[in-house]
Amino acid sequence: AVLTGHLAPQLSGLERAGALAGSAILARRSTVATSQEGGAVVPDTVQVEYRARTGIHSRADYERMYRHSVDDPAGFWGDIAAGFVWERRWAPDHFSYNLDLQSGRVSTRIFAGGRTNIAFNCLDRHVEAGRGSQPCFLWEGNDVGQERKMTYGEVLQEVCRVANWLKSVGVRKGDAVAIYLPLICELPIAMLACTRLGAVHSVVFAGFSADSLAQRCIDCRSRVIITASGGMRGSKRVELKQIVDAAAKVAAEKGHKIHKALVVEHPAAPRGKCPWARGRDVWYGDAVPAQQATCQVEWVDAEDPLFLLYTSGSTGNPKGVVHSTGGYMVGAATTAKYCFDLQPGDVYWCTADCGWITGHTYLAYGPLLNAATNVIYEGVPLHPQPDRMWQIVEKCKVRTLYTAPTLIRALEAQGDTWVKKHDRSSLRVLGSVGEPINPRAWRWLFEVVGERRCPVIDTWWQTETGTVMISPLPGAWPESPGSATLPFFGVVPVLVNDKGKELHGATEGILCIKQTWPAAIRTIKGDHKRFEQTYFSTFKGLYFTGDGCRRDDRGYYTITGRVDDVINVSGHRVGTAEVEAALAAHGACVEAAVVGVEHKIKGQGIYAYVALAQDEEPSEATRKSLIAAVRQHIGAFAAPDVIHWAPGLPKTRSGKIMRRILRKIAVNADSELGDVSTLADPSVVQAIISMRVTQL
Ligand code: ATP
Ligand code: MG
Repeated sequence: AVLTGHLAPQLSGLERAGALAGSAILARRSTVATSQEGGAVVPDTVQVEYRARTGIHSRADYERMYRHSVDDPAGFWGDIAAGFVWERRWAPDHFSYNLDLQSGRVSTRIFAGGRTNIAFNCLDRHVEAGRGSQPCFLWEGNDVGQERKMTYGEVLQEVCRVANWLKSVGVRKGDAVAIYLPLICELPIAMLACTRLGAVHSVVFAGFSADSLAQRCIDCRSRVIITASGGMRGSKRVELKQIVDAAAKVAAEKGHKIHKALVVEHPAAPRGKCPWARGRDVWYGDAVPAQQATCQVEWVDAEDPLFLLYTSGSTGNPKGVVHSTGGYMVGAATTAKYCFDLQPGDVYWCTADCGWITGHTYLAYGPLLNAATNVIYEGVPLHPQPDRMWQIVEKCKVRTLYTAPTLIRALEAQGDTWVKKHDRSSLRVLGSVGEPINPRAWRWLFEVVGERRCPVIDTWWQTETGTVMISPLPGAWPESPGSATLPFFGVVPVLVNDKGKELHGATEGILCIKQTWPAAIRTIKGDHKRFEQTYFSTFKGLYFTGDGCRRDDRGYYTITGRVDDVINVSGHRVGTAEVEAALAAHGACVEAAVVGVEHKIKGQGIYAYVALAQDEEPSEATRKSLIAAVRQHIGAFAAPDVIHWAPGLPKTRSGKIMRRILRKIAVNADSELGDVSTLADPSVVQAIISMRVTQL
């Protein structure tokens, strides 16, 4: 999801509660395994060393804070916000929201009346506190040996220079600036430079096509774009500048002119080898170093827009999600701190690209607000060898690793030796986001990568939610493979049936959110009606997530898949995530995707796409044994009707399976696949079609 935006392998291949700050605790923590898949069960009790520097050592500690956050959100968030720098404090009645379309327009206002600047809080605040020489970014290039270290002081100066350049070309508060960069230090720097001026950044993942980029520039009317001459992803060159040129042409044809392009010189495309538009294009290396290294921040209203970002488009047309400044800042910092047990100076690595919400909240803003040392890796995970990630973990002594299930499965498929070759003793917390993590991948992460020492933090959230919504807190309560467990502070999840009736106790339903939370989406760019319709018209007074979810008797929430993807087999509601997890638990299967198809008797049947492990044959015996695995783990009613061998799965550039395409292929509607341009590898579609089977 954008949320995700992870290094999808197929892309080529605060405050009071912190009383115990600094104390190292060795806690005994029980890890309960509910899903009995694969025979492997996490032992009841594991030794987990963690420094609960947040002061939350148990579920009871959490419950106390959670109650406060929900009963008195204005007070709870106000106390935390006081730890940040504000030019003007918020008004006493700063927390207001209306989530009910019938009683007026949907709106959320938090810290209303307050004025702040998030770049100041990410950088100046820490430098003023004496952290200027602490590493801010530890950058690793695509190729081994390419590295760069930037301190907080250096990043602050560079941000000021870029901000001064932006000012020199006329960028003012409220203007949108497009950013189309590979994962180099200049990417978060460009974001912060915009933020410093109160300009609204729109980061477009540097893998999107010219048309996608043009469409996003037109939608938010950005006339300035920050880009690079090129990029490398594994052994593949990405012709960024050519794509920008093509996008500018497309935009011009539609009446939108890109006035300025600031171009970072990337070694993949040095000067002279890069197409150039005189008057429009400016080399970063010529323009930025000449700028002053200080720049007054623009104090903005808490409710002024901070950035806009398009969703990953797994379910349809991407939406331009708009986030606010104050609420987002406090939400990003607080979730990053508690979910990852993050403290100043911790080495933290989020593998997401800044092109997705995860990269915004947990690569750029969240960790910087917490004064962490951020690892940034430009390349792809398996380049040049399958141990690249583990090599970086060892080299940088990464404490927290935040990544995605798609990547975890790809790494698992390479075998354990690659992991074990490298020292991982620095690791304390392992996080996952983007899609449901199947228990087998969860266990591999926990047992092999984390050597059973590190809590696995399965975070559920969305581009629209801005920050983590449901997630374990490290060491505070037992995790459960595949479950995001409990809601974060201030988040009130509810499960409803399809008529909108709230369901209580252990049950399954559609996940909605009551009340609002600091980093909630404020609107969709240029279309507040669409915002209201998409999220608040389905169920009165509730934010509709679009995800199905189960709550067990411990109160744990487990995402079962998208509501649109729920399959109804002979009256049984079957979550796609569960069938996929059961298939993936089978040794022969690396990844699976299931969709529902019309079935004469059952209403809907289950159609499963299975990607086999390298040494596996698509035999009749394997097919039978995969079906048997689903029968055993879920029940006979969930047994797939069709197994379609797939050389790979169609995924968005953020690594999510595009089931809408798989649904069409399943019913032979090859001409109705729709827009496949946001796919990481569109060629996989033909490859899947060519392996079609008919067994229904
Ligand atoms: P679009 O809304 O355009 O279809 P998208 O929903 O894929 O795109 P994101 O906001 O990146 O865009 O993804 C959010 C979705 O990702 C969630 O609604 C959920 O389906 C899924 N998701 C994210 N994290 C988790 C998780 N930990 N467990 C289960 N599902 C998750
Ligand atoms: Mg979505």
